[in-house]
Amino acid sequence: MNILLIGSGGREHALAWKMAQSPLVDVVHSTPGNPGMDEVGPCFDVGPTDIENLEKLTLQIEPDLVVIGPEAPLAAGLADLLRARGFDVFGPSREAAQLEASKSFSKARMTAYGVPTAAYGEFTEPGLAKAFLRKMQAPYVLKADGLAGGKGVVIAETLDDADAAVEEMLDGRFGDASATLVIEEFMHGEEASIFVITDGEGAIYLPAAQDHKRVGDGDTGPNTGGMGAYAPAPVVTDEIMARVKAEIAEPMLKGMAKDGMPYQGVLYIGVMVTEDGPKVVEFNARFGDPECQVLMKGLKGDIVPALLASATSGLKGNEEAFEALLELDGFEPTATVVMAMTGYPGSVEKGSVIKHVGKANDLPGVHVFHAGTDRNDLGMLTANGGRVLNVTASGATLREAIDRAYAGVEAIDWPEGFCRRDIGWRALERG
Ligand code: ATP
Repeated sequence: MNILLIGSGGREHALAWKMAQSPLVDVVHSTPGNPGMDEVGPCFDVGPTDIENLEKLTLQIEPDLVVIGPEAPLAAGLADLLRARGFDVFGPSREAAQLEASKSFSKARMTAYGVPTAAYGEFTEPGLAKAFLRKMQAPYVLKADGLAGGKGVVIAETLDDADAAVEEMLDGRFGDASATLVIEEFMHGEEASIFVITDGEGAIYLPAAQDHKRVGDGDTGPNTGGMGAYAPAPVVTDEIMARVKAEIAEPMLKGMAKDGMPYQGVLYIGVMVTEDGPKVVEFNARFGDPECQVLMKGLKGDIVPALLASATSGLKGNEEAFEALLELDGFEPTATVVMAMTGYPGSVEKGSVIKHVGKANDLPGVHVFHAGTDRNDLGMLTANGGRVLNVTASGATLREAIDRAYAGVEAIDWPEGFCRRDIGWRALERG
Protein backbone atom coordinates (compact mmCIF):
# COMPACT_ATOMS: atom_id res chain seq x y z
CA MET A 1 0.00 0.00 0.00
CA ASN A 2 0.96 3.65 -0.45
CA ILE A 3 0.81 6.17 2.35
CA LEU A 4 0.72 9.96 2.27
CA LEU A 5 2.06 11.51 5.45
CA ILE A 6 1.54 15.20 6.17
CA GLY A 7 4.08 17.14 8.24
CA SER A 8 7.79 17.83 8.58
CA GLY A 9 8.84 17.47 12.21
CA GLY A 10 10.59 14.83 14.27
CA ARG A 11 7.19 13.29 14.94
CA GLU A 12 6.59 12.80 11.23
CA HIS A 13 10.09 11.48 10.56
CA ALA A 14 9.51 8.88 13.27
CA LEU A 15 6.10 7.96 11.80
CA ALA A 16 7.54 7.71 8.28
CA TRP A 17 10.47 5.57 9.49
CA LYS A 18 8.18 3.24 11.40
CA MET A 19 5.50 2.91 8.72
CA ALA A 20 8.11 2.21 6.03
CA GLN A 21 9.16 -0.91 8.00
CA SER A 22 5.69 -2.43 7.67
CA PRO A 23 5.50 -5.35 5.24
CA LEU A 24 2.17 -3.86 4.13
CA VAL A 25 3.77 -0.65 2.88
CA ASP A 26 5.36 -0.02 -0.51
CA VAL A 27 5.95 3.75 -0.34
CA VAL A 28 5.61 6.47 2.29
CA HIS A 29 5.14 9.79 0.51
CA SER A 30 5.60 12.85 2.71
CA THR A 31 4.74 16.49 2.37
CA PRO A 32 6.56 18.74 2.99
CA GLY A 33 8.90 16.31 4.78
CA ASN A 34 12.50 17.02 5.81
CA PRO A 35 15.97 15.69 4.89
CA GLY A 36 15.46 12.67 7.16
CA MET A 37 12.08 11.81 5.63
CA ASP A 38 13.61 12.27 2.20
CA GLU A 39 15.65 9.14 2.89
CA VAL A 40 12.45 7.18 3.67
CA GLY A 41 10.40 8.08 0.60
CA PRO A 42 9.53 10.86 -1.85
CA CYS A 43 8.80 14.31 -0.40
CA PHE A 44 6.61 16.99 -1.97
CA ASP A 45 6.62 20.71 -1.33
CA VAL A 46 3.06 21.32 -0.14
CA GLY A 47 2.89 22.76 3.39
CA PRO A 48 0.59 21.44 6.12
CA THR A 49 -1.83 24.38 6.00
CA ASP A 50 -2.13 24.61 2.21
CA ILE A 51 -5.40 22.67 2.27
CA GLU A 52 -6.26 23.24 -1.38
CA ASN A 53 -2.95 21.87 -2.65
CA LEU A 54 -2.97 19.03 -0.11
CA GLU A 55 -6.29 17.93 -1.60
CA LYS A 56 -4.81 18.14 -5.11
CA LEU A 57 -1.72 16.17 -4.09
CA THR A 58 -3.85 13.46 -2.47
CA LEU A 59 -5.94 13.12 -5.63
CA GLN A 60 -2.74 12.84 -7.64
CA ILE A 61 -1.03 10.24 -5.41
CA GLU A 62 -4.20 8.29 -4.56
CA PRO A 63 -2.77 6.89 -1.30
CA ASP A 64 -4.38 3.94 0.48
CA LEU A 65 -3.96 5.80 3.76
CA VAL A 66 -3.42 9.46 4.64
CA VAL A 67 -1.72 10.12 7.98
CA ILE A 68 -1.99 13.68 9.28
CA GLY A 69 0.84 14.54 11.70
CA PRO A 70 0.29 18.09 13.03
CA GLU A 71 -2.75 19.82 14.50
CA ALA A 72 -3.16 22.75 12.08
CA PRO A 73 -4.51 20.74 9.09
CA LEU A 74 -6.81 18.78 11.44
CA ALA A 75 -8.23 22.00 12.89
CA ALA A 76 -8.70 23.26 9.31
CA GLY A 77 -10.81 20.21 8.40
CA LEU A 78 -8.39 18.35 6.11
CA ALA A 79 -9.52 14.93 7.39
CA ASP A 80 -13.18 15.74 6.58
CA LEU A 81 -12.29 17.00 3.12
CA LEU A 82 -10.24 13.91 2.22
CA ARG A 83 -12.80 11.49 3.69
CA ALA A 84 -15.47 13.15 1.57
CA ARG A 85 -13.23 12.38 -1.42
CA GLY A 86 -13.24 8.71 -0.42
CA PHE A 87 -9.79 8.44 1.18
CA ASP A 88 -8.99 6.59 4.41
CA VAL A 89 -7.55 9.13 6.82
CA PHE A 90 -5.80 8.71 10.16
CA GLY A 91 -6.78 11.84 12.08
CA PRO A 92 -9.93 13.34 13.59
CA SER A 93 -12.57 15.49 11.93
CA ARG A 94 -12.48 19.27 12.35
CA GLU A 95 -15.25 19.03 14.95
CA ALA A 96 -13.53 16.34 17.02
CA ALA A 97 -10.14 18.07 16.68
CA GLN A 98 -11.59 20.99 18.66
CA LEU A 99 -10.60 18.96 21.72
CA GLU A 100 -7.20 20.47 20.97
CA ALA A 101 -8.05 23.55 18.92
CA SER A 102 -10.38 25.09 21.53
CA LYS A 103 -9.70 24.80 25.24
CA SER A 104 -13.20 26.05 26.09
CA PHE A 105 -14.70 23.32 23.84
CA SER A 106 -12.50 20.71 25.45
CA LYS A 107 -13.37 21.86 28.98
CA ALA A 108 -17.08 21.88 28.17
CA ARG A 109 -16.90 18.29 26.82
CA MET A 110 -15.02 17.12 29.93
CA THR A 111 -17.63 18.74 32.16
CA ALA A 112 -20.47 17.19 30.13
CA TYR A 113 -18.97 13.69 30.33
CA GLY A 114 -17.87 13.90 33.97
CA VAL A 115 -14.14 13.65 33.17
CA PRO A 116 -11.78 14.85 35.96
CA THR A 117 -9.94 18.10 35.15
CA ALA A 118 -9.13 21.44 36.80
CA ALA A 119 -12.08 23.67 37.73
CA TYR A 120 -12.25 26.57 35.26
CA GLY A 121 -13.97 29.67 33.94
CA GLU A 122 -14.11 31.08 30.41
CA PHE A 123 -13.88 34.82 29.68
CA THR A 124 -13.86 37.48 26.98
CA GLU A 125 -14.17 40.44 29.41
CA PRO A 126 -11.15 41.49 31.54
CA GLY A 127 -13.35 42.61 34.47
CA LEU A 128 -15.08 39.24 34.78
CA ALA A 129 -11.79 37.37 34.38
CA LYS A 130 -10.17 39.41 37.17
CA ALA A 131 -13.17 38.89 39.47
CA PHE A 132 -12.85 35.12 38.88
CA LEU A 133 -9.13 35.22 39.68
CA ARG A 134 -10.01 36.64 43.10
CA LYS A 135 -11.95 33.47 43.87
CA MET A 136 -8.94 31.29 42.97
CA GLN A 137 -5.66 30.58 44.74
CA ALA A 138 -2.12 31.15 43.42
CA PRO A 139 -0.53 30.03 41.19
CA TYR A 140 -3.00 31.15 38.52
CA VAL A 141 -3.28 29.27 35.23
CA LEU A 142 -4.39 31.34 32.21
CA LYS A 143 -4.80 29.78 28.78
CA ALA A 144 -5.48 31.19 25.33
CA ASP A 145 -8.54 29.35 24.02
CA GLY A 146 -7.13 28.57 20.55
CA LEU A 147 -3.98 27.06 19.07
CA ALA A 148 -0.88 28.99 20.09
CA GLY A 149 1.91 26.60 19.16
CA GLY A 150 2.28 25.29 22.71
CA LYS A 151 2.95 28.83 24.00
CA GLY A 152 -0.56 29.96 24.98
CA VAL A 153 -0.37 29.17 28.70
CA VAL A 154 0.70 31.61 31.41
CA ILE A 155 1.23 30.43 34.98
CA ALA A 156 1.26 33.52 37.21
CA GLU A 157 2.52 33.40 40.79
CA THR A 158 0.84 36.64 41.96
CA LEU A 159 -2.52 38.26 41.42
CA ASP A 160 -0.78 41.32 39.87
CA ASP A 161 0.96 39.14 37.28
CA ALA A 162 -2.29 37.28 36.59
CA ASP A 163 -4.18 40.58 36.09
CA ALA A 164 -1.48 41.76 33.69
CA ALA A 165 -1.72 38.48 31.76
CA VAL A 166 -5.51 38.88 31.48
CA GLU A 167 -5.06 42.33 29.92
CA GLU A 168 -2.34 41.19 27.56
CA MET A 169 -4.03 38.02 26.41
CA LEU A 170 -7.46 39.55 25.82
CA ASP A 171 -5.66 42.39 24.07
CA GLY A 172 -4.39 39.95 21.45
CA ARG A 173 -1.01 38.67 22.69
CA PHE A 174 -1.77 35.38 20.93
CA GLY A 175 -3.93 36.94 18.20
CA ASP A 176 -7.38 35.42 17.76
CA ALA A 177 -6.29 32.41 19.81
CA SER A 178 -6.57 34.48 22.99
CA ALA A 179 -9.79 36.37 22.19
CA THR A 180 -11.27 33.93 24.71
CA LEU A 181 -9.41 33.09 27.89
CA VAL A 182 -9.68 30.00 30.07
CA ILE A 183 -8.63 30.41 33.70
CA GLU A 184 -8.23 27.25 35.70
CA GLU A 185 -7.27 25.81 39.03
CA PHE A 186 -3.58 24.83 39.40
CA MET A 187 -3.16 21.07 39.70
CA HIS A 188 -0.27 19.64 41.74
CA GLY A 189 1.34 16.40 40.65
CA GLU A 190 3.46 14.78 37.95
CA GLU A 191 2.53 15.01 34.27
CA ALA A 192 2.43 12.19 31.73
CA SER A 193 1.28 11.74 28.13
CA ILE A 194 -1.05 8.91 27.19
CA PHE A 195 -1.86 8.04 23.58
CA VAL A 196 -5.01 6.25 22.51
CA ILE A 197 -5.38 5.04 18.94
CA THR A 198 -9.11 4.90 18.31
CA ASP A 199 -11.75 4.60 15.62
CA GLY A 200 -14.26 6.34 17.87
CA GLU A 201 -15.29 3.13 19.66
CA GLY A 202 -12.42 0.66 19.89
CA ALA A 203 -9.21 1.85 21.57
CA ILE A 204 -5.58 0.80 21.86
CA TYR A 205 -3.47 2.33 24.63
CA LEU A 206 0.22 2.87 23.94
CA PRO A 207 2.79 2.88 26.78
CA ALA A 208 2.67 6.11 28.81
CA ALA A 209 5.38 8.65 28.02
CA GLN A 210 6.78 11.71 29.77
CA ASP A 211 7.87 14.92 28.05
CA HIS A 212 10.28 17.60 29.34
CA LYS A 213 8.80 20.97 28.48
CA ARG A 214 11.24 23.39 30.12
CA VAL A 215 14.39 24.35 28.27
CA GLY A 216 16.83 23.85 31.15
CA ASP A 217 18.09 20.97 33.31
CA GLY A 218 16.06 20.39 36.45
CA ASP A 219 12.94 21.70 34.65
CA THR A 220 14.04 25.32 34.72
CA GLY A 221 13.70 28.19 32.23
CA PRO A 222 10.96 28.89 29.70
CA ASN A 223 8.58 26.33 28.22
CA THR A 224 9.43 24.80 24.84
CA GLY A 225 7.77 22.43 22.39
CA GLY A 226 9.53 19.64 24.35
CA MET A 227 13.24 18.96 25.00
CA GLY A 228 13.09 15.20 25.33
CA ALA A 229 10.86 12.31 26.32
CA TYR A 230 10.91 8.70 27.43
CA ALA A 231 8.59 5.73 27.76
CA PRO A 232 7.34 3.79 29.59
CA ALA A 233 6.82 6.42 32.31
CA PRO A 234 6.66 4.67 35.72
CA VAL A 235 4.48 7.44 37.19
CA VAL A 236 1.65 5.83 35.22
CA THR A 237 1.28 2.62 37.19
CA ASP A 238 -1.16 -0.08 36.06
CA GLU A 239 -3.66 1.35 38.52
CA ILE A 240 -3.33 4.89 37.14
CA MET A 241 -3.59 3.56 33.56
CA ALA A 242 -6.78 1.69 34.48
CA ARG A 243 -8.22 4.92 35.91
CA VAL A 244 -7.21 6.90 32.80
CA LYS A 245 -9.11 4.37 30.68
CA ALA A 246 -12.22 4.18 32.88
CA GLU A 247 -12.46 7.79 34.06
CA ILE A 248 -11.06 9.73 31.08
CA ALA A 249 -10.69 7.93 27.75
CA GLU A 250 -13.82 5.80 27.73
CA PRO A 251 -16.25 8.55 28.81
CA MET A 252 -14.67 10.99 26.32
CA LEU A 253 -14.89 8.59 23.37
CA LYS A 254 -18.42 7.52 24.25
CA GLY A 255 -19.57 11.09 24.80
CA MET A 256 -18.05 12.40 21.57
CA ALA A 257 -19.66 9.54 19.59
CA LYS A 258 -23.03 10.08 21.26
CA ASP A 259 -22.87 13.79 20.42
CA GLY A 260 -22.23 13.05 16.75
CA MET A 261 -18.47 13.81 16.78
CA PRO A 262 -16.85 10.36 16.90
CA TYR A 263 -13.12 10.73 17.50
CA GLN A 264 -11.02 8.88 14.92
CA GLY A 265 -7.22 9.07 15.12
CA VAL A 266 -4.92 9.36 18.10
CA LEU A 267 -6.15 11.08 21.22
CA TYR A 268 -3.30 12.54 23.28
CA ILE A 269 -4.29 12.79 26.89
CA GLY A 270 -2.02 15.09 28.90
CA VAL A 271 -2.65 13.99 32.48
CA MET A 272 -1.60 15.29 35.86
CA VAL A 273 -1.21 12.42 38.29
CA THR A 274 -2.51 14.11 41.45
CA GLU A 275 -3.12 12.80 44.96
CA ASP A 276 -6.73 12.26 43.89
CA GLY A 277 -5.76 10.33 40.75
CA PRO A 278 -5.30 11.32 37.11
CA LYS A 279 -6.81 14.60 35.86
CA VAL A 280 -6.73 16.02 32.35
CA VAL A 281 -4.34 18.93 31.68
CA GLU A 282 -5.13 18.99 27.97
CA PHE A 283 -6.12 16.92 24.98
CA ASN A 284 -4.27 17.02 21.69
CA ALA A 285 -5.63 15.68 18.42
CA ARG A 286 -2.35 14.13 17.24
CA PHE A 287 0.77 12.39 18.50
CA GLY A 288 2.99 14.41 20.81
CA ASP A 289 6.35 15.64 19.59
CA PRO A 290 8.79 14.35 20.99
CA GLU A 291 6.75 11.51 22.59
CA CYS A 292 5.94 10.04 19.17
CA GLN A 293 9.64 9.53 18.40
CA VAL A 294 9.98 7.44 21.57
CA LEU A 295 6.87 5.37 20.86
CA MET A 296 7.74 4.64 17.23
CA LYS A 297 11.30 3.64 18.16
CA GLY A 298 10.29 1.49 21.14
CA LEU A 299 7.44 -0.40 19.45
CA LYS A 300 8.66 -3.71 18.11
CA GLY A 301 5.59 -4.57 16.01
CA ASP A 302 3.76 -3.07 13.04
CA ILE A 303 1.95 0.25 13.57
CA VAL A 304 0.26 0.36 10.17
CA PRO A 305 -2.61 -2.10 10.83
CA ALA A 306 -3.68 -0.05 13.89
CA LEU A 307 -3.54 3.25 11.97
CA LEU A 308 -5.51 1.73 9.10
CA ALA A 309 -8.10 0.24 11.46
CA SER A 310 -8.54 3.63 13.12
CA ALA A 311 -9.11 5.20 9.70
CA THR A 312 -11.54 2.50 8.53
CA SER A 313 -13.53 1.91 11.75
CA GLY A 314 -12.09 -1.58 12.15
CA LEU A 315 -10.74 -1.41 15.70
CA LYS A 316 -13.75 -2.17 17.88
CA GLY A 317 -13.76 -5.79 19.04
CA ASN A 318 -10.37 -6.45 17.43
CA GLU A 319 -8.18 -4.54 19.86
CA GLU A 320 -6.28 -7.60 21.06
CA ALA A 321 -5.32 -8.60 17.53
CA PHE A 322 -3.98 -5.11 16.79
CA GLU A 323 -2.15 -5.00 20.13
CA ALA A 324 -0.50 -8.31 19.22
CA LEU A 325 0.59 -6.90 15.84
CA LEU A 326 2.03 -3.87 17.64
CA GLU A 327 3.82 -6.27 20.04
CA LEU A 328 2.90 -3.95 22.88
CA ASP A 329 4.21 -6.44 25.45
CA GLY A 330 7.67 -6.23 23.88
CA PHE A 331 7.90 -2.41 24.00
CA GLU A 332 11.55 -1.48 24.59
CA PRO A 333 12.39 1.30 27.06
CA THR A 334 13.27 4.32 24.89
CA ALA A 335 14.40 7.90 25.34
CA THR A 336 14.82 10.84 22.99
CA VAL A 337 17.05 13.85 23.53
CA VAL A 338 16.17 16.97 21.55
CA MET A 339 19.16 18.85 20.14
CA ALA A 340 18.13 22.47 19.71
CA MET A 341 19.78 25.53 18.17
CA THR A 342 21.39 27.99 20.61
CA GLY A 343 18.81 30.66 21.44
CA TYR A 344 15.80 28.33 21.40
CA PRO A 345 13.00 28.83 22.49
CA GLY A 346 13.81 32.42 21.49
CA SER A 347 14.80 33.40 17.97
CA VAL A 348 17.48 31.28 16.30
CA GLU A 349 19.83 31.60 13.35
CA LYS A 350 19.57 29.14 10.50
CA GLY A 351 22.26 27.50 8.44
CA SER A 352 24.84 26.10 10.87
CA VAL A 353 26.35 22.86 9.58
CA ILE A 354 25.66 19.54 11.35
CA LYS A 355 28.03 16.59 10.89
CA HIS A 356 28.21 12.90 11.83
CA VAL A 357 24.50 12.11 12.18
CA GLY A 358 25.41 8.86 10.40
CA LYS A 359 27.96 8.06 13.13
CA ALA A 360 25.23 8.44 15.76
CA ASN A 361 22.90 6.21 13.74
CA ASP A 362 25.57 3.48 13.69
CA LEU A 363 25.64 3.25 17.50
CA PRO A 364 23.69 0.38 19.10
CA GLY A 365 19.98 1.11 19.59
CA VAL A 366 20.25 4.71 18.30
CA HIS A 367 18.21 6.43 15.61
CA VAL A 368 18.32 10.16 14.93
CA PHE A 369 15.07 11.72 13.75
CA HIS A 370 15.23 15.03 11.91
CA ALA A 371 13.04 17.95 12.99
CA GLY A 372 14.28 21.40 11.89
CA THR A 373 16.96 20.40 9.38
CA ASP A 374 17.70 21.40 5.80
CA ARG A 375 20.46 20.94 3.24
CA ASN A 376 22.61 23.81 1.95
CA ASP A 377 23.77 24.30 -1.64
CA LEU A 378 26.66 21.92 -1.04
CA GLY A 379 24.28 19.22 0.17
CA MET A 380 25.46 19.56 3.79
CA LEU A 381 22.97 19.07 6.60
CA THR A 382 22.11 22.35 8.33
CA ALA A 383 19.96 23.62 11.20
CA ASN A 384 16.72 25.17 10.02
CA GLY A 385 14.73 25.81 13.19
CA GLY A 386 14.65 25.71 16.98
CA ARG A 387 14.33 22.01 17.67
CA VAL A 388 16.64 20.39 15.13
CA LEU A 389 17.43 16.71 15.87
CA ASN A 390 15.85 14.05 18.09
CA VAL A 391 18.52 11.58 19.17
CA THR A 392 16.45 8.55 20.09
CA ALA A 393 17.63 5.26 21.59
CA SER A 394 16.20 2.04 22.98
CA GLY A 395 17.80 -0.32 25.47
CA ALA A 396 17.14 -3.21 27.82
CA THR A 397 16.44 -0.66 30.58
CA LEU A 398 15.58 3.01 30.55
CA ARG A 399 19.02 3.76 32.00
CA GLU A 400 20.64 2.03 29.02
CA ALA A 401 18.33 3.81 26.57
CA ILE A 402 19.22 7.21 28.06
CA ASP A 403 22.96 6.46 28.05
CA ARG A 404 22.76 5.33 24.43
CA ALA A 405 20.87 8.49 23.43
CA TYR A 406 23.55 10.68 25.03
CA ALA A 407 26.27 8.63 23.30
CA GLY A 408 24.43 9.54 20.07
CA VAL A 409 24.47 13.22 21.05
CA GLU A 410 28.24 13.02 21.66
CA ALA A 411 28.82 11.50 18.22
CA ILE A 412 27.17 14.45 16.46
CA ASP A 413 29.36 17.39 15.55
CA TRP A 414 27.27 20.55 15.82
CA PRO A 415 28.87 23.24 18.01
CA GLU A 416 25.84 25.54 17.72
CA GLY A 417 23.47 22.96 19.22
CA PHE A 418 22.58 22.21 22.84
CA CYS A 419 20.44 19.74 24.75
CA ARG A 420 19.20 18.98 28.24
CA ARG A 421 21.44 16.57 30.11
CA ASP A 422 18.80 15.11 32.43
CA ILE A 423 16.19 13.51 30.20
CA GLY A 424 14.35 10.80 32.15
CA TRP A 425 15.42 12.06 35.59
CA ARG A 426 12.04 11.48 37.20
CA ALA A 427 11.97 7.83 36.15
CA LEU A 428 15.60 7.28 37.18
CA GLU A 429 14.93 8.87 40.56
CA ARG A 430 12.11 6.39 41.16
CA GLY A 431 14.68 3.64 40.66
P1 ATP B 1 1.10 21.97 24.47
O1 ATP B 1 0.06 21.68 23.47
O2 ATP B 1 2.40 22.42 23.92
O3 ATP B 1 1.30 20.85 25.48
P2 ATP B 1 -0.70 24.01 25.43
O4 ATP B 1 -0.40 25.39 25.00
O5 ATP B 1 -1.82 23.32 24.80
O6 ATP B 1 0.62 23.18 25.37
P3 ATP B 1 -1.30 23.04 28.12
O7 ATP B 1 -0.73 21.70 27.83
O8 ATP B 1 -2.70 23.15 28.47
O9 ATP B 1 -0.94 24.09 26.99
O10 ATP B 1 -0.38 23.64 29.27
C1 ATP B 1 1.02 23.76 29.15
C2 ATP B 1 1.69 23.33 30.44
O11 ATP B 1 1.27 24.18 31.51
C3 ATP B 1 1.29 21.93 30.89
O12 ATP B 1 2.06 20.94 30.30
C4 ATP B 1 1.49 22.03 32.39
O13 ATP B 1 2.85 21.85 32.71
C5 ATP B 1 1.09 23.42 32.70
N1 ATP B 1 -0.33 23.47 33.11
C6 ATP B 1 -1.38 23.67 32.31
N2 ATP B 1 -2.54 23.64 33.01
C7 ATP B 1 -2.19 23.41 34.28
C8 ATP B 1 -2.94 23.28 35.50
N3 ATP B 1 -4.26 23.43 35.54
N4 ATP B 1 -2.24 23.03 36.64
C9 ATP B 1 -0.90 22.92 36.64
N5 ATP B 1 -0.14 23.05 35.53
C10 ATP B 1 -0.78 23.29 34.37
